Parts: sequence; C-alpha cells; structure tokens
Amino acid sequence: MSTRRVLVIAAHADDEALGCGGTLALHASRGDEVRALFMTDGVGSRGAGEDAAARQRREAANAALACVGVRDATFLALPDNQMDGLPLLEIVRQVEPVISAYRPDIVYTHHFADLNVDHRLVHQATMTALRPQPGALAPTILCFEVPSSTEWQTPSAQTAFIPNWFQDISGTFERKIAALEFYAEEMRAWPHSRSIEAVTHLARWRGASIGVEAAEAFMLARHIAR
Ligand SMILES: [Zn+2]
Repeated sequence: MSTRRVLVIAAHADDEALGCGGTLALHASRGDEVRALFMTDGVGSRGAGEDAAARQRREAANAALACVGVRDATFLALPDNQMDGLPLLEIVRQVEPVISAYRPDIVYTHHFADLNVDHRLVHQATMTALRPQPGALAPTILCFEVPSSTEWQTPSAQTAFIPNWFQDISGTFERKIAALEFYAEEMRAWPHSRSIEAVTHLARWRGASIGVEAAEAFMLARHIAR
C-alpha cells in the first residue's frame, strides 16, 4: 500500500489527540507521513504569563505529537478563543500555504458545529482553503469530535455530529491516551467529558458501535473518488 500524506488542522494543541490521536498513530505506524497545523497558541485568552504558558503548551504538544507519530507541527499564533475577531479570509490565508506546500491526501479537522468558536472557524477556513476548484488539491476531508465542545453545542438537526466514518483504533488506543497524559493541564477530572475516563468511554462506545474494541468516529466532509 502506498504511503499517504496526512494533515490534521486543529484550533488548539490537544484537539488532535482528543479528536483523532488513535487514527494519527495508526497512520504513522503504517508509514504515512503525518503533520499537524495548530491555528492558535492555546493560551491567548487566559491573561498574564501567556508567553511561558504558550511555551509550556508547545512542549506538551511536541511530546504528545511524538507519542502518536506526528513528525512535523506548525504552530500559528492566532488569538485563542478570539478567532471570531478575525476575518475568515485572514484565517484562510494562513491555512492555504501550509496545504499547498504539503499537498495532503487526507485532512482531519473540526466539526463545523462545535460549541468552541475557534473550532467552527478552523472548519470553515479548511473547507474554504480546500474548495474544489478545477485543478485544486482534493484530499479526503474528515471531521472529528472533540469532547467538551462537539457535544456541548445546542442540540439540533443542523448541529448534530452524525458519524459516518469510523477508524478502528484498537491497536493504537493506548497511544492516544498516552498522548493525552501530556495534556494534563487541559484535561479535567471525571465526570467532565474532557477526562481520560470519558475519552476512554467514548472510544469504547464508538468501537462497540462498529463491533471493535475501540474506535474514533468522523463525519466525512468530502471524498472525491477518481
Ligand atoms: Zn480546541
């Protein structure tokens, strides 16, 4: 099987591990090249001590990324939880050069209706950067769920996360959890949905939904068969 170029585009370092850490680890174990693009430094809206906090978060991210086999990560510095203060075009302009330089075969990104505004904007920017114009790159686009954001949105038919793509991560689930251990600062105690226990239950449930030990669920945004 030929190797593929995989890109995860996430608002914050930790979204990639929560949303598709097991899937990324599986890609890496199969020889695929896996890179990450983070749009914010993850700490901008928290006040004083931001630089040290951003550095700490980046170190945690690098350790977590190594855990799931991500070889290269780009950290942009858009304002955390304030990306709605930017024109969408500006966000798109930051995504486009990374995509055109890397030419991914598969892109993982946020669900369009997450409660977190940065997540929604990253989804929009990704879909805009990947609009299927003639001759454009046409990677498969898969949207992951992020506990404490995807399920916290106002419930409606328009905002529902309805998975139609499952990745069996029975063999890499432990690496997903190991990656999340590096994000201890971002994790919460059970029964918060962003706890190791809740993430484990979700992976087990997504797995049970398709008859395997553990899975990550996605919504397919686009796949162009050739
Ligand atoms: Zn996030």
